[in-house]
Amino acid sequence: MKGCRIDVVMTDDEKVLRTYEGSTAIVTGGASGIGRSLSEELALRGSEVIVADLQIEQAREVVSGIQQRGGKADAADLDVTDHAAVDSLLVATMTWTGRLDFMFNNAGIAIGGPAELHSVEDWQRVLDVNVRGVVNGVESSYRIMREQGFGHIVNTASMAGLLPLPGGASYSASKHAVVGLSRSLRIEGASIGVRVSVLCPGVVRTAILEDAGAYGKMLVNVPPGRMRELAARLRPIEPDVFASRVLDHVARNRAIIVVPGWWRIFWWFDRFHSGIGSLLGKSIFDGMRREFGG
Ligand code: NAD
Repeated sequence: MKGCRIDVVMTDDEKVLRTYEGSTAIVTGGASGIGRSLSEELALRGSEVIVADLQIEQAREVVSGIQQRGGKADAADLDVTDHAAVDSLLVATMTWTGRLDFMFNNAGIAIGGPAELHSVEDWQRVLDVNVRGVVNGVESSYRIMREQGFGHIVNTASMAGLLPLPGGASYSASKHAVVGLSRSLRIEGASIGVRVSVLCPGVVRTAILEDAGAYGKMLVNVPPGRMRELAARLRPIEPDVFASRVLDHVARNRAIIVVPGWWRIFWWFDRFHSGIGSLLGKSIFDGMRREFGG
């Protein structure tokens, strides 16, 4: 499907991005973790939120919680790798609410382990969800937002999109792609009123840290609870605190949103002293190999 055209019917007063009261937002991967907290925080700030996820039962629970607190939300069963399904959801949302202020392309998976343990299917799956899933959301929302003359696309990458991640090359490759896409599209969209930001979370306490999330996996044998212990060293932030800070940055139209902010130190360090950063990465990776094999 080439992508549905929709007729945007709005008065001039309505053709303005609403941050956030009275806005419409779609959040992919909204059933769990970061997406769930973004959905809840958006609703709290007055957005009507479409919580889109493969885990539809969990998405419905998120929606029911939002509605019980007086917010507006709906659940959508969505696989972000399916362009036709993404496009239909966006067109249905426009038909229903008459506008699309925010598109959060947030669904993502992680497959952890050294490159030689990745099958070609593992590489494909990570790139399919983390890159193609974002591209699908961008393609449909950018078209709608261009017609509207406003909108904000927010793509979730990772610090692994700014830094190398030995032991997670497929994930890091996918997140670097999301950063590159977002930074380029931000420049293209600026003259037509479409904002683009990219989220680079440090470590957020979600399912992805426990067992690589519902659709990810570890290719090395990590004892239960060990991932959590390792993640604890990186001072994980709670998803609701994360979401609240992110929405403040999105409202200020920041280009690259790093939360918690102290992770920027690693990014700056890597840009100016990448050799030392690589040595540090190697020593962490060697330690992981000794502990988990691979
Ligand atoms: P999570 O596993 O809690 O949430 C991911 C959500 O995406 C799940 O609800 C899952 O059902 C959904 N999903 C997966 N594949 C999908 C698909 N094909 N179609 C639709 N939905 C799909 O993990 P999270 O930590 O909340 O991750 C959200 C995003 O944040 C991801 O893009 C992840 O890479 C990124 N991220 C997370 C962290 C962290 O520390 N938690 C750090 C950096 C980046």
